[in-house]
Amino acid sequence: MHRPGADPANMQISDFLCDFSGREWDGAFPMVEGHQGSLISGDCLTVAYTEVVLQGASSAEPPYRCTMCLEEKEDPGWQSPARPEAMICKRCIKQSAGRLHKDQDWEWRKPEADAAG
Ligand SMILES: [Zn+2]
Ligand SMILES: [Zn+2]
Repeated sequence: MHRPGADPANMQISDFLCDFSGREWDGAFPMVEGHQGSLISGDCLTVAYTEVVLQGASSAEPPYRCTMCLEEKEDPGWQSPARPEAMICKRCIKQSAGRLHKDQDWEWRKPEADAAG
């Protein structure tokens, strides 16, 4: 998300915040963009991917509105413990993880099943 009150004509890097943790971007960790400026950090994506994709869990209560694709969803999804209004559907988790996994700029990798504990 964009920092509330940020000047859209003069966005600074720290005006971009993870919707799921509220963490401010410093350009030094991966972020994936969804619709309407929604953002998920690599760290949050790791947790979401592990819980929803690897463990088959769902913390989002359906129907919910996915923060990333803005669609109303019944599928499994992840609700951020830090910002309960932020939810991401399984499809967006997989898409975002796929994008980040392939991105040469970052060393982010999809979590592996055996590392999930
Ligand atoms: Zn985050
Ligand atoms: Zn979605």
